[in-house]
Amino acid sequence: MTGSNTVTGNTAELTGFAALGITGALLKATHGAGFTEPKPIQTQAIPPQMEGRDIFGIAQTGSGKTAAFALPILSKIIALGTKRRAKTTRALILAPTRELAVQIEDTIKILAKGAHVSTALVLGGVSRFNQVKKVAPGVDILIATPGRLTDLVREGDLILSDTKWLVLDEGDRMLDMGFINDVKRIAKATAPDRQTVLFSATMPNEIAELAKGLLKNPIRVEVAPQSTAAAEIVQGVVFARTKQKRQVLSTMLADAAMKSVIIFSRTKHGADRVTKDLERDGFKAAVIHGNKSQNARQKALNDFREGSVRILVATDIAARGIDVPGISHVVNFDLPDEAESYVHRIGRTGRNGMEGIAITLCDPSENSKLRQVERIIRSKLPIVADHLGSPDPVRNPAEKNERFEPANDRNDRNGRRDGRRPGGQNNGFGKKRFGDKPAFAGAGERKPEGAKPFKGNNKRRFGGKRPAARAA
Ligand code: AMP
Repeated sequence: MTGSNTVTGNTAELTGFAALGITGALLKATHGAGFTEPKPIQTQAIPPQMEGRDIFGIAQTGSGKTAAFALPILSKIIALGTKRRAKTTRALILAPTRELAVQIEDTIKILAKGAHVSTALVLGGVSRFNQVKKVAPGVDILIATPGRLTDLVREGDLILSDTKWLVLDEGDRMLDMGFINDVKRIAKATAPDRQTVLFSATMPNEIAELAKGLLKNPIRVEVAPQSTAAAEIVQGVVFARTKQKRQVLSTMLADAAMKSVIIFSRTKHGADRVTKDLERDGFKAAVIHGNKSQNARQKALNDFREGSVRILVATDIAARGIDVPGISHVVNFDLPDEAESYVHRIGRTGRNGMEGIAITLCDPSENSKLRQVERIIRSKLPIVADHLGSPDPVRNPAEKNERFEPANDRNDRNGRRDGRRPGGQNNGFGKKRFGDKPAFAGAGERKPEGAKPFKGNNKRRFGGKRPAARAA
């Protein structure tokens, strides 16, 4: 398919989103949002969804996929009018991270301007009470992260049997974060005749399998080749020992050309350490990772988005989904555990046709990770600088007594998804730590009327294997 925005036949005179079947107030709001020409993913994905088809889309954030799934849902909900039942949602959009969920809701609100469509967010890390209150009368579109949503459904605060539209955004990231079983359970609880859309930036086997199980005869749409980095991004590697990286980074950041920089760290402790070191070196930086409260995360993102700080330090939690325009540089302070994450990290720059620069700092111990990255992007990263022959910088004696977190700060291993570590003595990896009790009182007794059995997996909260979630 092409990005053409006109169609033949009885809609020959229509162009843009109108030609894709978007009409009335929705079309007006779409234009009001500055969306006049559909992006290729929208041209491909909107018409089949309008016809009721399931979609399996390979697309990254930045492609315009949010409007590609939101416009058909909005169009149908508007056409059907208000038909909500208490504690239900008509459409459910699942996102792997809270930031992405917030971003999706923002886009939907803009697109739904003027239409009476209600939206709600169900996210971990913030008050559950307000979320329960918001969904109590029923909502049109619910955007949620799988963990908290599972809790609400399990406790009877949300019923999914009326949910006729289901979107799974960033499927591969859900997989990385260990949400896949939650996702399957959630999908099973929705209406059997629902319409389903699955978007994923990459196509690991597990996602292909998930698609087979959840999608009915889907139309496949694709806008970027799998696992290749955008062409507008100039990439390079700087060889530096771990002890040299702080100085290398500070020297780089002194360059005024680094206007808006996101620095990725593999771990939460690493991100905090980099932020602290930057502050000591005279740079103001915001930090975002899974141990920060939702409010702190949103504030860091807003400050960065608005330009009041030019440096954002982040774990891979921000590597996908976050769309901040005008990021000039991405710096990988270290290499990610999964080579795929590299593609997502550097994709924060070079957006909307703008140029971007991505620099990776590589310690010799990270060479094998670098090779994996080069395999996945199918090219060798040019060497920008090599500091390996230089001596390590001398640390400020005042900082000497501080504990140096090794790059491999594995004490996250026992972390729960929300980043807090459980207390008690029996917190050995993989062992039960909280006894066999279900995660909530009255399991199985408080099943809402009309709801399907919703079997929880308590492992999910209490030490199930969640590698990426723990790292972020
Ligand atoms: P997404 O991939 O959905 O996160 O979208 C990436 C960016 O593209 C967002 O900033 C959107 O506001 C913008 N966008 C999406 N569709 C269009 C369009 N048709 N025209 C202009 N901008 C768009």
